[in-house]
Amino acid sequence: MMLGFLLARAGVATVVLEKHADFLRDFRGDTIHPSTLQAMDDLGLYDEFLKLPHQEAAELSALVGNERVTAVDLSHLPTRAKFIAIMPQWDFLNFLASKAGAYPNFRLIMQAEAEGLLEEGGVVRGVTAKTPEGPLSIRADLTVAADGRHSILRAKANFTPKDIGAPMDVLWFRLSRRPQDTVEPFGRADRGQMLVLINRGAHWQCGYLIPKGGFEELKRLDIDILSQRVKELVPFLEDRVAELKSWDDVKLLTVTVDRLPRWHKPGLLLIGDAAHAMSPIGGVGVNMAVQDAIAAANILYAALRQGAVPESLLAAVQARREPIVKLTQALQLCRSSFRTAALPMS
Ligand SMILES: Cc1cc2nc3c(=O)[nH]c(=O)nc-3n(C[C@H](O)[C@H](O)[C@H](O)COP(=O)(O)OP(=O)(O)OC[C@H]3O[C@@H](n4cnc5c(N)ncnc54)[C@H](O)[C@@H]3O)c2cc1C
Repeated sequence: MMLGFLLARAGVATVVLEKHADFLRDFRGDTIHPSTLQAMDDLGLYDEFLKLPHQEAAELSALVGNERVTAVDLSHLPTRAKFIAIMPQWDFLNFLASKAGAYPNFRLIMQAEAEGLLEEGGVVRGVTAKTPEGPLSIRADLTVAADGRHSILRAKANFTPKDIGAPMDVLWFRLSRRPQDTVEPFGRADRGQMLVLINRGAHWQCGYLIPKGGFEELKRLDIDILSQRVKELVPFLEDRVAELKSWDDVKLLTVTVDRLPRWHKPGLLLIGDAAHAMSPIGGVGVNMAVQDAIAAANILYAALRQGAVPESLLAAVQARREPIVKLTQALQLCRSSFRTAALPMS
């Protein structure tokens, strides 16, 4: 959506396909980092954007055992926003869609599921999609696969991401928040367990780390096992763990960390999770995807105004973004192996 907006703004005719009828997702990419907020400022959208309901976190702290540690302090950043805005992803996407929709050369087609690539002589010339009205075929000078970590277009291009290995999964659930609770996001690591709490106004979004593949084993036990662990880690939640009534109240995030060796072929570029799924540590996934879009727009818009894009420019997008992706994934994995090394199931 960000790339579609930026290209339309730069005068390039752009079509965005979205397979769902809306952007509603629970517990998805809700952390809008200062880098993304800086982009919104550069686009002149900062004040309007932050009128949308959100929470602000300038500091991320954790209790390690009983010692409070400030894990992240954003107050010294050279950006306008010195905080993370926590906002539902659908609000962010709807906002971008409305801004992009102001350009006559932008078109968003909902309920259009890309199914295949139109290829001629080894060059991608567009996509085929299915819609409620029937099949759709779109020809394009450039096709960008930004279709997420299970990218169909990536498979159609015969690209296979390199699995970098993630030793953990995350259980997400919500518990109500009381006015007297702390405001900042907060984590507690103790005796081999870890719980992260994100302030969502009336409720806490809670993330509990488990060893990779451990959810099925845990689900054989009563949900009380999770309630018990939550209140051991964060005693002030004791009066509301009963809100967890069954495992249906818990959503599993299967953590994937992977990366494509090559993000492009003639006529096709992959960005965001389709090119590199990030670990949830640091809540960077959305922000990396947005920065990919900004790099792609800046590098490609002039050529796209003229028509076809030489593959060397697609390679330039990968060259611009890959080093930071690699570095961030390396940092995430080094931190997560430290954490899960001590995460017994029972
Ligand atoms: C449970 C969970 C929690 C997360 N929490 C955070 C967080 O707090 N902070 C953070 O920064 N990141 C978080 N992430 C990661 C973040 O959501 C992703 O890194 C980010 O959304 C990647 O953006 P993207 O545009 O590349 O892919 P996506 O956001 O996955 O978007 C892909 C879009 O393409 C659509 N699509 C897929 N296939 C097709 C198709 N064939 N045709 C048409 N449309 C298609 C999908 O419906 C979707 O809207 C989380 C991820 C998960 C799974």
